[in-house]
Amino acid sequence: MSHPTRTDLSAWLDLWNHTDLPTAMWIDGEYRAARGGASAALVTPRDGGEIARLPLAAEADVDDAVRGARTVFEKGIWSKLPPRERGEVLLRWADLLEQHRDEIALLVSLEMGKPISDAWAIELRTTIGVIRWYGELADKLMDESPRGREGSVALVTREPLGVVAAITPWNFPMTLAIFKLPAALVAGNTVVLKPASQSPLSALRVAELAVQAGMPAGVLQVITGSGPVTGAALALHQDIATLTFTGSTEVGKQLLHYAGDSNAKPVWLELGGKSPNIIFPDAPDMAEAIRTAAWAISFNSGQMCTAGSRLVVHEDVRDQVVEGVVSHLRSLRMGDPLDPNTEFGPLASSRHRDDVLREVAKGIDSGATLVTGSADAPDRPGWFVDPVVFTNVDNSDRLAQHEIFGPVLSVISFRDEDEAVRIANDSDYGLGSAIWTADLSRAHRLSREIDAGLVWVNCFEEGDYSVPFGGRKLSGHGGDKSVHGLEKFTAFKTTWMKL
Ligand code: NAD
Repeated sequence: MSHPTRTDLSAWLDLWNHTDLPTAMWIDGEYRAARGGASAALVTPRDGGEIARLPLAAEADVDDAVRGARTVFEKGIWSKLPPRERGEVLLRWADLLEQHRDEIALLVSLEMGKPISDAWAIELRTTIGVIRWYGELADKLMDESPRGREGSVALVTREPLGVVAAITPWNFPMTLAIFKLPAALVAGNTVVLKPASQSPLSALRVAELAVQAGMPAGVLQVITGSGPVTGAALALHQDIATLTFTGSTEVGKQLLHYAGDSNAKPVWLELGGKSPNIIFPDAPDMAEAIRTAAWAISFNSGQMCTAGSRLVVHEDVRDQVVEGVVSHLRSLRMGDPLDPNTEFGPLASSRHRDDVLREVAKGIDSGATLVTGSADAPDRPGWFVDPVVFTNVDNSDRLAQHEIFGPVLSVISFRDEDEAVRIANDSDYGLGSAIWTADLSRAHRLSREIDAGLVWVNCFEEGDYSVPFGGRKLSGHGGDKSVHGLEKFTAFKTTWMKL
C-alpha cells in the first residue's frame, strides 16, 4: 500500500469518530489505570481541545510494570524462545501495523500535530520497516568461537540483559520508539516503554497489537505519565538492566545521575542537535539543494533532532540560496494536521510554541536579520508558528548554538572549505550534517573532518534500516537501527573450556 485510501479531511474525521482512543496503560497484556487513579488530560495541538485522559503512573505503577516484565523474562517464554520464532512474532506485528496503518497514523497526528500525510507515509513506513528488518534478522545472528589455544574451546556468546527501559520523545512518537523496541525484543529482552506525556496514544495501541501478533503479555509494557515522576521512577528502578533514551540533552544528563544513584545501569542517549547543512557553489543541483534546505528546517515543523537548522552557505551563492529557501518556506500549505493536503502543522504543545517564539524574539534582539517569519503566532487555531529565516548570524550567536527545535533557520556564510569545517564543528552537538558539492574529494575530506554521527552528501536525512542513526558530543552515543543497534541490548559472555 503506498497511499492512504482516505484522501480528504472528512474521511479522517470520520475515522476519528469511529476510533476508541486508548485511556489506560498497557501492562501485562491489559489496559490498566494508575493504582491511585491519577490521570491527566491529553490535548491535541490541532486546536488545543482535550481528546483523552491518560493515567499518571506513580512509583508503585512503574514497579508493577517492571515486575511484570521481569517475571515474564525469567519464565523464558520470550527470552528463551528460538530466535526465529521471536522474529516471526515481529513480522506478524509489522503486518498488523500495516493493516492498522490509518488508525496509528491518526493517533500520531492527533497527539502531536504531525500532518496526517507525513504520519502515514513517513512515520508509519519507517515504523513498519524497522520492525520487519529486525524480524528478518532474528535468526541470522551468530555467536563467536575464536580459535583460542590448542587444547581449549572458546565461546563468545551474547545474552539478553533482562528488562530494558525505553524513554522516548514526542516528535516522532512511533519511529523513535521503534528504533529501540524491536532490537531490544529480538535480542530476548522484555521492555518497559515510557512515551512522552504528549504522545502516548500510538505507543499504547502498537503494544496492544504486539500481543495480537503473538508476543506474550508482559514482554512489552507501556506506562504513561510525566517525565519527572514516571520517567524518573523508571530510570531509578533497581531492576532495569539498561536504559535507552531519546530526548533532550538536559534530561539525558539527568538520566546519567539516576543511573549512578541506583544500580549503575548503562544509559544510551540520543539527544539534541544543531546540524550544519553546508552548500558549496558547485552543488550538483542547486535547485535540489535549496528545496532540501527548506525541507530540512520545515519538515515536522522543524521539530527534528537532525533539523538542518544551521544553513552554512558559501558567500558566492548565499543570496540565491536564501531567496530560494524563503520562497519555498512561504509556499508551504499550513493547516489542520488531519487534512491530507497540509504540509506544515502546528508545534506539539502551547508551551513549546511559546518557547520557540521567545527564541525568535531573542534572535531579533541579537541584531540578526529576520528575512521571513515573526515572533508572533499566526492568528489561527492550533499552536502554529510561521517558518523563520535569519541571516547575518555569526556561528557564536545563540541562534546558531542553541537547539530551538522549531522551524527557525540561521544562515551563516563562509568563504572557503576550512572555514566551513570550522563552523560545522564549532558546536556542542554532533548529530547530523550535510555537504552539497560535486567535488568527490572534497565530499570525502569533509565527511572525515566533520565531527558528527551522520554525514549526508548531496541529500539530507537519507538512510536505511541497515545503517546506524546517532550522534556524538552532546548529541549522545550508542546509535539505534542496524545490526549495531542490537549491541547495547545484549551482554557478552565468554566461556573457556579446557579439553
Ligand atoms: P524531553 O527530554 O523533554 O523528553 C523526552 C522523554 O523524557 C519524555 O518521555 C519525557 O517524559 C521524559 N523525561 C522528561 N524528564 C524526565 C526525567 N527527569 N526523568 C525521566 N524521564 C524524563 O524531550 P522532548 O521535548 O520530548 O523531545 C525533544 C528533544 O529530543 C530535543 O532535544 C531533540 O533534539 C531530542 N531528540 C533527539 C533525537 C535523536 O535521535 N538524537 C530524536 C528526536 C528528538
